[in-house]
Amino acid sequence: MLYGKSIKTLIDHERNRLPEEHPWSDFIEQITVSFALQQEYRHSLGRYSRFFCELANGRFFATRCPKCDRVYAPPRTLCLDCQSIPDWVELSGKGTVKTFSVLHFNAGIGADVKSIHGPIFLVYVLLDGGHTLFPHLLRCAAERLAIGLRVKPQYVSGPVSHPLHLMYFVPEDEVL
Ligand SMILES: [Zn+2]
Repeated sequence: MLYGKSIKTLIDHERNRLPEEHPWSDFIEQITVSFALQQEYRHSLGRYSRFFCELANGRFFATRCPKCDRVYAPPRTLCLDCQSIPDWVELSGKGTVKTFSVLHFNAGIGADVKSIHGPIFLVYVLLDGGHTLFPHLLRCAAERLAIGLRVKPQYVSGPVSHPLHLMYFVPEDEVL
């Protein structure tokens, strides 16, 4: 009911009646209702917030289990092996491509991905100092894409539709 009044004011009725002489004119009435809604969503990144905040600072953070030293990137808030609560740890963000997918269509729903022209390279990177694979976009010439390619993060300063796109990978030896 909170939004009932505002929705009601936006409703625009268009009534299309059958011609008077039509035998069903008293019974058939087509009503088209159009309205516009604007809703604001607030999505919390919760305990993962630091990872995204640090991307905005050009720093790459993971979590490390204090008990078994397993390093999670992307970060996890609970160790999968021993259920301890990990600590934050900074990594260089550099790593090695372990596997990849090539998308020949743009499945992005955000402006960050939609703006990419040509094939999209989704790489799974084992970061230096990490124990899990970190999936993200790699931007490079197609002939450079290969398992074993050394990559580094490229941080984005401009506005993004999702904080995950505050970075992407590029080949480590690429000078930008
Ligand atoms: Zn652990």
